[in-house]
Amino acid sequence: MSTFHPEDFLVLVVDDLNQNLQVIGEILEKQGYETTFATNGEQALARIKSADPDLILLDLMMPEMNGLEVCQIIKKDLQFKELPIVFLTASDEKTNLIQAFEFGAVDYVTKPFHVPELLARVRNHLELKQTRDQLKKVLEQQKHLIAKLEKLATTDPLTGILNRRHFLNIATKELSRYHRYNCGFSLLMLDLDHFKRINDTYGHSIGDEVLKAMTEAVLKSLRKADSFGRFGGEEFAILLPETNLETAREVAERIRQTITKLTITPPNQLVQITVSIGVTTCKMKDESLEVLLQRADKALYQAKNLGRDRVVTHLETDN
Ligand code: GH3
Ligand code: MG
Ligand code: MG
Repeated sequence: MSTFHPEDFLVLVVDDLNQNLQVIGEILEKQGYETTFATNGEQALARIKSADPDLILLDLMMPEMNGLEVCQIIKKDLQFKELPIVFLTASDEKTNLIQAFEFGAVDYVTKPFHVPELLARVRNHLELKQTRDQLKKVLEQQKHLIAKLEKLATTDPLTGILNRRHFLNIATKELSRYHRYNCGFSLLMLDLDHFKRINDTYGHSIGDEVLKAMTEAVLKSLRKADSFGRFGGEEFAILLPETNLETAREVAERIRQTITKLTITPPNQLVQITVSIGVTTCKMKDESLEVLLQRADKALYQAKNLGRDRVVTHLETDN
């Protein structure tokens, strides 16, 4: 953890006696702390919002709004509820002090001040705050890192859609849901036609652009609940929950047409592509996802054999 620099911290001192503010202000400033002041509760609450202090030295007894009330209001505010509050009290205010702790104060200092004690308590709570803030930051960074790792582990880096493993996980879960609750689903296998030629003609990086543009176009024609994954190089799979074969065929046909109309325009070029799509739907006798994948693959193979740029369902194969 990093070292402690008083000048990094702003202390708000609240007291109805100007003389107290002056004395405490001088003690703190001599140590290097930044200071700001308020002479009543209302002013204190406004100052907290405008100056965002790191710690408050709060007089317990003040006319109008006393320290306890100010403390209660601060602790109710989500943004400031962790702000350390150290009470300034006369030694005969012990009963109120117990309440102050109940309301969320972290400490107190009795008047008249013993300067080293005041400074020790201020520093102690600022160090604790610093550690807490740093821990929060580390946790936040870890959360980001975990999200990033999760994304890396589940998505395809080129297209940003699901990778094969993650798609298979989702599809496997969908199959068990089907067996248990009878919510049917359909599966599409999609493969770019003569993609090798695209690479050969325009180069591999334009091939990559084509893959990206194609996935974007497909994503636009899918619903939120659908899953779209990259299975291999230019082979993709789509899972359509709550969708029967007939509807799945329509979705596939719509995708095929969208892609036919798609033009990718790298500098001085115009690339057009087509896709072949194999469609199948789940059946109660499907014990594993593998069976479904094979059926969709067979339909896709058939689409290729029939001349590409077309949709074929498993009914049109000998399955
Ligand atoms: P078909 O119509 O029978 O599917 O023919 P095809 O040329 O699409 O199929 P084939 O399997 O012969 O070739 C696929 C090509 O896809 C070969 C490979 O270099 C290319 N490919 C695979 N992954 C990528 C990629 O990430 N980027 C690019 N640019 N090309 C890729
Ligand atoms: Mg292909
Ligand atoms: Mg292929």
